[in-house]
Amino acid sequence: MTVGVDMDSILIRELEVYAGHGVYAEETLRGQMFLVSAELIMDLRTAGLSDDLDCSADYGRVCHFIHDYLRQNTFLLIEAAAEHLAREILVSFPQIMELELEIKKPHAPVGLPFACVSVKIRRGWKQVFLGIGSNMGDKERYLEDAVDRLKAHPLIRDVKCSEWMVTAPYGGVMQDDFLNGAVGLKTLLFPDELLAFLHELEQKAGRERKIHWGPRTLDLDILLYQDYVSDDPELTVPHPDMGNRRFVLEPLSKLCPNLVHPVTGKTIRHMLQDLLR
Ligand code: ATP
Ligand code: CA
Ligand code: CA
Repeated sequence: MTVGVDMDSILIRELEVYAGHGVYAEETLRGQMFLVSAELIMDLRTAGLSDDLDCSADYGRVCHFIHDYLRQNTFLLIEAAAEHLAREILVSFPQIMELELEIKKPHAPVGLPFACVSVKIRRGWKQVFLGIGSNMGDKERYLEDAVDRLKAHPLIRDVKCSEWMVTAPYGGVMQDDFLNGAVGLKTLLFPDELLAFLHELEQKAGRERKIHWGPRTLDLDILLYQDYVSDDPELTVPHPDMGNRRFVLEPLSKLCPNLVHPVTGKTIRHMLQDLLR
């Protein structure tokens, strides 16, 4: 399930939580009222048809979760309270795909008359596809260790792999054959944070960057990050060369043949057919 225009939601409005968030010592000591609103975005069709609570997110439990979290943790900023709370809700209630969270602070010490100040954020699980490859040492081991490390990350879930395929090296450097594949996952990490984690995994696999397109123990590329598009050289998404690479499109088309590439407007299956033509 990807988040689309027709996603349903459950709304929680102005849940009252008395807690101690703020930059002033007095706010932490005395505490004040916070009002929390949340839109829990998920697919409610199955719950609607089956009348089964297990198919939905129990809003009573979500309310208690918000209440307990904001009382057990103290933040200087409501920005930080919202960021951490949104993450914990999304990790703890897997049916919720996306979340809009607003924390109001009606008694913030501003020294002027005002109704309310609030912070509102939207966070969610993003569907990502990675290209993965190795052409040094125990290639299969490098790929499988990387997949295990992706699965172990608390902000990554639903990791699925294509089969590995053997491919001749790309880019004209003389070197051993590659073992390549594609990995699908959902993550709460932002694109730059995901890239930093992938670089960590490459480093743990002992990767050294010597020559461009040269031999490597592990290479992890972000092919697609939901429908995000960026031409930043540090992170170009979708991966600019994916349409020219059979070793990318073939495994990817096993995972998501009907996914529409946000730039070409073509499905992955269609892009592979074009390349092989
Ligand atoms: P290619 O990206 O053509 O497959 P490569 O994987 O051999 O080449 P690397 O040496 O692994 O290239 O990466 C060089 C830099 O590319 C990285 O440090 C990273 O900042 C940048 N980069 C840009 N877009 C992406 C992306 N979509 N995924 C991963 N790295 C990217
Ligand atoms: Ca690459
Ligand atoms: Ca790379």
